[in-house]
Amino acid sequence: MRCAIVHYHEIALKGRNREYFEERLVRNIQWMLKDLGVRRVENLRSRIRIVLPEGIPDQTIIDRLTRVFGIANFSLAHGLPLDLAHPDLGALSQAVIESLRSESFSTFRVSAKRADKRLTLTSMDVARDVGAAVCEATGKKVSLKDPDLTVYLELLSKEAYYSIKKIQGPGGMPVGVSGKVACLISGGIDSPVAAYRMMKRGCRALFVHFSGRPLVSRASEEKVRELVQLLTAHQYTSKLYVIPFGEIQRDIVASAPAPYRVVLYRRVMIRIAQELAKQEHCWGLVTGDSLGQVASQTPENLTVIEEAAELPLLRPLIGMDKLEITDQAEQIGSFAISIEPDQDCCSLFTPPHPSTKTRLEDILRIEQMFDIDALVKQGLDKAELSQFTFPQ
Ligand code: ATP
Ligand code: MG
Repeated sequence: MRCAIVHYHEIALKGRNREYFEERLVRNIQWMLKDLGVRRVENLRSRIRIVLPEGIPDQTIIDRLTRVFGIANFSLAHGLPLDLAHPDLGALSQAVIESLRSESFSTFRVSAKRADKRLTLTSMDVARDVGAAVCEATGKKVSLKDPDLTVYLELLSKEAYYSIKKIQGPGGMPVGVSGKVACLISGGIDSPVAAYRMMKRGCRALFVHFSGRPLVSRASEEKVRELVQLLTAHQYTSKLYVIPFGEIQRDIVASAPAPYRVVLYRRVMIRIAQELAKQEHCWGLVTGDSLGQVASQTPENLTVIEEAAELPLLRPLIGMDKLEITDQAEQIGSFAISIEPDQDCCSLFTPPHPSTKTRLEDILRIEQMFDIDALVKQGLDKAELSQFTFPQ
């Protein structure tokens, strides 16, 4: 039987939390592999077994599972029955030896794990016996410290699994265990990374983008769609709201002193995103702000922008510098999309000297010149919803 054996980090998983985590992870894996015809995903004593139909290339499984948050590592394995009462390691050793025929290596080791402690043999016994059989059949040497190849054995209640491929998962927590958040996504480098980090902590992301339309082209929207599609690979389905923001910005520009524009746009964005967040049962808002990076991200401006939010405003990148964020963007594959040229709504009417130390009382006074509720309503009325799925 061909399968994948998935391990997750169990630290800090206690009682009911653990069950919830495991159920979610099983469900997420099912989602992720559904289109490949995978039907059996089961939680067996601290590991998840996925029965793989024949014909799916290893690489396809690896590509999929390395995107599922909550997986610490997994192996692509073969299983065979193992009788608990009379564990006969001959068949297992023979199967391992067969699977090594096509591999080139000079040294190896066997690493065994036993889920079922009722087995009369210990993991060490099994590793030693199978190792000895491999030595004898292949003439290769055991190296415990730095082997060319490792044979992984998993001993469950009624089966044994062997594998020579263990693959690192992305870690984190299964999407969904930490509720839902609304991510404000521009076409820039930071916001997709911010969304990714929250998803990795178990949040399902709803995406909200403000486009400069009708005053600029759709270029930023196209980038955002590509970014959302990329991120959807971690949560299988996504919703994106695009809000044409150009006219709202024009209204603000018409009456507000230039240095305050950016903070005013941001506060309106926060309010609009927040209404969508509430409709969609999100508990927080997420932005890609990083302290001191641009004029809108000084301590004073961050504080004044946050004041417009009633929901928690989460800024997972706040303490990261541009290099760290860029590295992560490259790792997750968003960097190449983010750096394509576009015209974001934020580049519209950007004042030459934005205020970097905005005071809340000044902003509250300026906002009285506007009918803020009407601006928010205008944004909400024009919001356009798109749905994404992975695989496409
Ligand atoms: P990014 O690289 O994410 O665009 P940035 O460094 O350019 O960030 P800002 O332009 O000040 O910084 O934006 C700060 C945050 O505000 C963004 O990370 C994003 O969460 C949100 N934001 C900015 N512009 C938009 C937009 N057009 N639509 C949605 N959210 C936006
Ligand atoms: Mg930006």
